[in-house]
Amino acid sequence: MELKGNQRNMSGTYKAVQVTKPGEFAAVLKPLVDPGPGQARIRVEACGVCHSDSGTVEGLFPINWPRVPGHEVVGRIDAIGSGVQGWAVGQRVGVGFLGGSCGYCEFCRNGDLVNCRNQEFTGIHHDGGYAEVMLAKASGLMSIPDSMSSADAAPLLCAGITTFNALRNSPAKAGDLVAVLGIGGLGHLGVQYARRMGFEVAAIGRGIQSAELAKKLGAHHYIDSAATDPAAALQALGGAKVILITASGGKTVTTTFKGLRAGGVSIDVGVGPEPIEITSMDLIFGERKVAGSLTGNPATGDATLRFSALSGVSAMIETVPLDQAAAAYAKMMAGKARFRMVLVTKNTK
Ligand SMILES: [Zn+2]
Ligand SMILES: [Zn+2]
Repeated sequence: MELKGNQRNMSGTYKAVQVTKPGEFAAVLKPLVDPGPGQARIRVEACGVCHSDSGTVEGLFPINWPRVPGHEVVGRIDAIGSGVQGWAVGQRVGVGFLGGSCGYCEFCRNGDLVNCRNQEFTGIHHDGGYAEVMLAKASGLMSIPDSMSSADAAPLLCAGITTFNALRNSPAKAGDLVAVLGIGGLGHLGVQYARRMGFEVAAIGRGIQSAELAKKLGAHHYIDSAATDPAAALQALGGAKVILITASGGKTVTTTFKGLRAGGVSIDVGVGPEPIEITSMDLIFGERKVAGSLTGNPATGDATLRFSALSGVSAMIETVPLDQAAAAYAKMMAGKARFRMVLVTKNTK
C-alpha cells in the first residue's frame, strides 16, 4: 500500500447489491478492503445495467457465489495499491467488461489487450459495480472527461465502446453505407456513432415505431424489417459496406447478409445462443465476411468517451438508486428500458 486516500474518514463498510444464487439479489454491507497490488479502489458513482449482466444474474457463466454484477462503472479513485502508475487518488475513472489485461501473455505482448489470456470479466470473475465501492485492476481503467456526468458516462463503457470500436475498426470509410441493425441499448448508440463518423447510415428495426427515433439519432434511412426485406432494401441503396448487428439472434445476421455489397462485412456484437446460418454461395460470391467484435481496449474506451463528448453522442438513460438494482435489472431484461438503466449511489454528485 502506498496511498490510503481519505480512508481514515470512511466507515468500514459499504453497500452492495449482490446475487446470491441465479435470479436472487440481496442488498448487503461489505467490509471495506484495501486495494491489492496493481489495483485501485473506486467510490462508485454510477453503474449501467447491461444485458450481459444476465451472465452473472442467471448464472450463464460459472459463478463463485455470491457475486456483485455490473461492468459499466464510473467512480472516483480513493485508494491505490502498490505498483500502480499513471492513476491518482481523486481521479474519476471508468471500468468496463474487460477487467484489465495482464501485460505478459502472448496477446498482451503483441498489443492485443482485448484478447489477453489472463483477463477477468468485471462482475463475473470478481465483484463489479452494483455497489458503493469496487476494486479494479488499474490496467483496465478508462478516464472520464470532466464535461461528462458519471451517469451519462456509464453506458458508454460497454454499450458505447462496443459499437464505437466495431465501427471504428471496420473497413467503412466516410461516405460508405453502414447499416445498424437494432435500435436498442447498443443500436441507439451505434446509429449516433455511425452518423458522427461520416457514414451514410441505414437503421434497421422491426416496425415503424422506431423510424422517427432512428432519424433523430442520425440515420439517413430507416428500414422496417417487419414490412420489407432488409437485404433487398440495403441493395436498393447500393449495398452496405458494414452491417453492425446489435440485436442478439443469429437470424438477424442471416436475413440481412445479402444486403452487404461485395467485400462488405457483417459485424456481430449482439450475443445470443442462436447459430448464424449463411450459405457458402453468399459468402464466396461477393467475398463477404462475418465477424465478431468484443468491446475494445482501454485506450479505445478513452477515445469512445472523448469522441462522445466532442460530437454530442449520448445514451438515453434512466437513473435509479442502487437500492433498486433488482427492479432496474428486471426492467432491462423485459426489454422495457429506454434505453439504458443506470444505478446511482450516494457518492453521485
Ligand atoms: Zn455490457
Ligand atoms: Zn495478457
